Amino acid sequence: MKIICIGRNYAEHTKELNNAIPEKPVVFLKPATALLKDNKPFYYPDWTNDLHYETEIVLRVSKQGKYVDEKFAHKYFDAVTVGIDFTARDLQNTQKAKGLPWEIAKAFDHSAVIGNIKPLSELAEWDEKGISFSLLLNGKQVQTGSTNDMMFSFGKIISYCSQFFTLQVGDLIYTGTPVGVGPVQREDRLEGFLETEKVFDFMIK
Ligand code: MG
Repeated sequence: MKIICIGRNYAEHTKELNNAIPEKPVVFLKPATALLKDNKPFYYPDWTNDLHYETEIVLRVSKQGKYVDEKFAHKYFDAVTVGIDFTARDLQNTQKAKGLPWEIAKAFDHSAVIGNIKPLSELAEWDEKGISFSLLLNGKQVQTGSTNDMMFSFGKIISYCSQFFTLQVGDLIYTGTPVGVGPVQREDRLEGFLETEKVFDFMIK
């Protein structure tokens, strides 16, 4: 499986990092070794001093697809959760300044935290009102978002990405983070919520 990630999909977050509003989705990948699930602790790496959380809605791909038309994109995912796209912001800034790829700052081991996956059928009317999500850091809410604020919808993301990468069953798509990203430290506790349901709860070690 692969992990497809979208960057700069919420306008306020894009501005907080002084990035331009993109005309097309900003896409990068993480390998399967990036996954961290089952509320296992995250061990702070020794090559960064500025590890940031980015809280994101994650889609699970349920059908193989290539060149998926936007209007059929809803047939290609069947479940959703909240995850963290961990980012070594110091490394990312260095890479960006040099015009180099982001992988060492974004795709490292356990950089893709995934919560308990919920079938879409359990989220009533989600497409009507968007999906809300939030992150608590040591019990205090530090990020909250709604997929209504995404610049590129699930359909647009799936259609765009499937031109380049064949979607396969079990792939995950991280759909971007809203405003409010920030650093974590050892002994921090992170709790993620999909609507009102807690889907992950883990420690930084
Ligand atoms: Mg992100």
